[in-house]
Amino acid sequence: RIWSAEEEAIIATNTEATECKRCAVELGYWKDDYIGYFAKHVDRKAPEINRGYYARVKGVEMFIHQFLERCDTKCQIINLGCGFDTLYWRLKDTTQAVGNFIELDFPAVTAKKAHIIKRNKALLEKICNEDGEVVIREGDLHSDGYHLVGCDLRCLTDVKRKLSVAAAGAPTLVLAECVLVYLRSDAADALLRHLAAAFPRCVLLTYEQCSLDDKFGEVMARNLRGRGVAAPGRSHALGPADGAARLQTLGWGRARAWDMVAVWRALPDEDRARVERLEMLDERELLTQLNSHYALAVATTCDLFADMDLNA
Ligand code: SAM
Repeated sequence: RIWSAEEEAIIATNTEATECKRCAVELGYWKDDYIGYFAKHVDRKAPEINRGYYARVKGVEMFIHQFLERCDTKCQIINLGCGFDTLYWRLKDTTQAVGNFIELDFPAVTAKKAHIIKRNKALLEKICNEDGEVVIREGDLHSDGYHLVGCDLRCLTDVKRKLSVAAAGAPTLVLAECVLVYLRSDAADALLRHLAAAFPRCVLLTYEQCSLDDKFGEVMARNLRGRGVAAPGRSHALGPADGAARLQTLGWGRARAWDMVAVWRALPDEDRARVERLEMLDERELLTQLNSHYALAVATTCDLFADMDLNA
């Protein structure tokens, strides 16, 4: 399949995210033994970008741990628009086991990810079945507890077919990190409505751009487009309150959202102090501006997860 220029630019957002994560990891913001397999030789990013990524990764992690604390090992994670995310391997190195982990992205991205996994023993050995095998079926990679599948999230039939490896009744975390803003809002709504109906014991965790209709949002978008990287359409990026309300209309019983200014403040004081010592940031206002353009949202279809909160 030939990708349109628009799709190419969306696929390039994964390269951008992976390189930014690799840069911050190299500078000591957080530990990730696996990101280096997915991005080599990256240029140094600005301090506010590194801190923004730190808040993103730690904020997402905070809620993933809360989800896992409330489940047994039969739970599953569905990672929408997974890109080269290393969450599966990072969790494997902790005591927080996940029974089933399903990653979805465009086939162009999952094929590259599968190729990198197969070439690197440190990645491969963590997904192999007991007999040391992984199965490749229709270009997708499957093992007992890990599935990497190519699909277009705008096509529900495709999504439903690829999610047949998920267990409908299991406690499920659906993760969407910088993904939904690249879908037209009718496609994103259809996807989220389907997931709410299909997984009755589910938490949805999203991290997305929000409130892009100001000068800062415009500069951010221009900057990305100038480098061939897609920038989210303004109309797709809702503010936290509107985003939460929209999720409720799509079948998510309870939904809350916080902008990243709030998430940054909610991180443990000692962690914030440690990363603030890593690099000088003269203009703190820059980080606040950047953080106010991103939001984390948590929505649930089940009371088991109703008490998940920013400060829980
Ligand atoms: N979630 C990863 C992370 O945070 O590191 C990757 C984020 S990257 C900004 C966005 C990802 O969403 C890309 O890998 C892109 O290919 C994927 N994506 C966007 N639209 C998609 C679609 N319609 N179908 C499948 N994947 C899509």
